[in-house]
Amino acid sequence: MTLDTIAAISTGMSHSGIGIIRITGADSFSVIDQIYQGKKLLSKEPSHTIHYGHIVNDGEMVDEVLVSILRAPRTFTGEDTVEIHCHGGTFVVTKVLEVVLKTGVRAAMPGEFTKRAFLNGKMDLSQAEAVIDVIQAQNEYALKSSLSQLKGSVKGKIKEIRDKIIYHTAFIETALDDPEHISVDGYGEKLYEEVKELIQSLKRLIDSADNGRVLKEGIQTVIVGKPNVGKSTLLNVLAGKERAIVTEIAGTTRDALEEQIYLDGLSLQVIDTAGIRETDNRIEQLGVDKTKEYVENADLIIYVVDASRPLDEDDQKIWQLVSQKKLIVLLNKSDLITMVSKEMLQEAFSQYHSNEMLQEEFSQKNSDDEFNHQSKSLASKGREGGGLNLLTKTIPMIDVSAKEEEGIEEFNKTLRKMFLKKDFSFNEEVFVSSARQKNALSQAYQSLKKVVDSITNQLPEDFYSIDLMDAYEALGHITGESIGEDLINEIFSRFCVGK
Ligand code: GDP
Repeated sequence: MTLDTIAAISTGMSHSGIGIIRITGADSFSVIDQIYQGKKLLSKEPSHTIHYGHIVNDGEMVDEVLVSILRAPRTFTGEDTVEIHCHGGTFVVTKVLEVVLKTGVRAAMPGEFTKRAFLNGKMDLSQAEAVIDVIQAQNEYALKSSLSQLKGSVKGKIKEIRDKIIYHTAFIETALDDPEHISVDGYGEKLYEEVKELIQSLKRLIDSADNGRVLKEGIQTVIVGKPNVGKSTLLNVLAGKERAIVTEIAGTTRDALEEQIYLDGLSLQVIDTAGIRETDNRIEQLGVDKTKEYVENADLIIYVVDASRPLDEDDQKIWQLVSQKKLIVLLNKSDLITMVSKEMLQEAFSQYHSNEMLQEEFSQKNSDDEFNHQSKSLASKGREGGGLNLLTKTIPMIDVSAKEEEGIEEFNKTLRKMFLKKDFSFNEEVFVSSARQKNALSQAYQSLKKVVDSITNQLPEDFYSIDLMDAYEALGHITGESIGEDLINEIFSRFCVGK
């Protein structure tokens, strides 16, 4: 494939120490020879060397630079590449790029360097996507997982699964073509076991994608609770610095405050809301309406209760508002004499049966961990007492003291259990992160389930191979082996220019 030579500024457009202009394509070296003045003719220099000199335009010096010479194929794009390191001012890097473009080189489109790397076979699509993820990583886990994907972890795993699928498809097709020599007797049972295993592998990858979203994008969190229960104090403790106005006058936190908090690798976008209660005060009412809106859009609600005061009808209003959502209840002020117990709150929430589904999902996810045993034993206690619904009893509740900074560890632990799928370790090698990849995995998963159904229903073998091929195709979307040009262009357009 012959591609034209392209160039772009590859560093951020701000005043910084250095800026880098990258040129890639067959003409890269002849271009640099035209605009570089130094001791050597760079097109004759060996690969992976760096040279001091000047960029000149019509005999005039533009900047003092270092130039890297990188010869194909051992480069990011797989093509001859030149990188000009100039001073990092926005004016000077733009000027150097202009001089480069004057030689007839084309300005690169967003993501075009990475697209070249993909088109030249330097990486598959999952790795190319990981490049954006590495750049955009906001926390350690997001970075770790995208680096692992960049190194080829997803590519390798998908290849392994696809190889098995193609082996079986080929076997079935060959056997059907040549029934005299190849028998498919009993093959269904063997295939059944293998496909079941593949389904398990896909399931794990799909789970990792869910974790990936949480880790990459963070958890949209809303703190709710009556005024003065300690929401702002708690937020300060979690954020590790003074930020919300903490006061003893009820209703001080009128406007929502948003804060990015990192807890043990998870990031939370936390909105601290105005205390929810009926009020004649218009400003406060505005805050209440906004709170409802935030609650609707949240991934997680942290409901803070002042355990040293009795619950009242304002709490009831909150239960109503948040009962549909994924919820953690923090019983704050545990350092004082408490009047509110977990049992009381569990019972209160059990009125809201609509919460069942969500809580069921949660209890399944954690079905055999210590946390759930706790909830279950709590639930059975409650049932003996009043015939309460088991499923509504699994809302995580934690005693905390924002003032004494107690219970925060337990809170972290619970969060991880709620948002990260079981058996998940951050050192796990294969980690899917994009929605696009997850979608392809789900398609493949559905197709393989159909294979299992066909075997169970003893349908003819050609049914198996149709669905096996569908799964094979779907997985090819992840690596980019079966994917149209439009989609490739769309994926790379999400990159920034210069990458
Ligand atoms: P908010 O209105 O819910 O944001 O509540 P604030 O964070 O402003 O706290 C209200 C009052 O409760 C302040 O005087 C805090 O110092 C106090 N407070 C907060 N958390 C605790 C706690 O864990 N224990 C005790 N004893 N007081 C607390």
